[in-house]
Amino acid sequence: MEIIHSVPEMQKLSEELRLSGKRIAVVPTMGFLHEGHLSLIRIAKRSADFVITTIFVNPAQFGPKEDFDKYPRDIERDIKLCELTGSDAIFSPAVSEIYARNYLTYVEVEKITEKLEGMSRPTHFRGVTTVAAKLFNITKPHVAVFGQKDAQQIVVIKKMTKDLNFDILIIVAPTVREPDGLAMSTRNVYLNTEDRKNASLLYKSLKLAEEKISKGERSVENLKKEMLGLFENKQNVTVDYISFTDLETLDEIENVTDTEILISLAVKVGTTRLIDNIIIGKKE
Ligand code: AMP
Repeated sequence: MEIIHSVPEMQKLSEELRLSGKRIAVVPTMGFLHEGHLSLIRIAKRSADFVITTIFVNPAQFGPKEDFDKYPRDIERDIKLCELTGSDAIFSPAVSEIYARNYLTYVEVEKITEKLEGMSRPTHFRGVTTVAAKLFNITKPHVAVFGQKDAQQIVVIKKMTKDLNFDILIIVAPTVREPDGLAMSTRNVYLNTEDRKNASLLYKSLKLAEEKISKGERSVENLKKEMLGLFENKQNVTVDYISFTDLETLDEIENVTDTEILISLAVKVGTTRLIDNIIIGKKE
């Protein structure tokens, strides 16, 4: 497995791969890899000849009061996991390699980035789309794999890819969960024992909504009440939002219909903000 830190070196390798007819997949991550990330690498392997896993804690997507400095990092462990999972290369640049001094250019998707996560994290998606566009230009992939765990990120990346004519297929990988349903996340390491118990409520609340819908409930107001009920009286738990939206526009809906709906939520458990989502009415 190749480990690359410099942009020109990565571009050179990707160019050579392309010239030799190889199909490239990129799996962008912020490292401290878990089974969720590894599932993306496995899916990438099935859709390409050469998989590049990028490991870069992107300062541009963290707010000023967020956890950029204390975000967990363990590159040696990540290298071993990538190798075991079959990644063909790791691209792991320094911050200065991606954002040189006097860096001035940002990519911004409008409107859909102001909703849901964008309400609490106003500069987050500008950071995400900027680094994604840069990683696309650096790794020159045919395919990029992202996790459904970050549902709004998928919508925003797909929109940027379409609007900016990136000739890249975006593959969405299902959310990998712990046995109690908690979506795997690097930030789960911040949870203490009590928080960890409460963290499983996110998925439980999503499954509760799904069950009520399957039994005929159509009112989003009622469904939100049911979901909120699960978080009531829990110590150190604050629901940021629960949202029922159209899958593409992210417009809020009031009644459940037969179309696909994204149910998503963000909850602060202890000091950690967790997100999760499910799609209902999904057509196979
Ligand atoms: P991150 O390192 O948190 O930026 O995540 C890198 C990629 O892994 C993103 O596309 C995430 O959506 C995806 N990812 C994170 N957690 C999971 C999970 N539990 N299941 C599937 N994909 C995930």
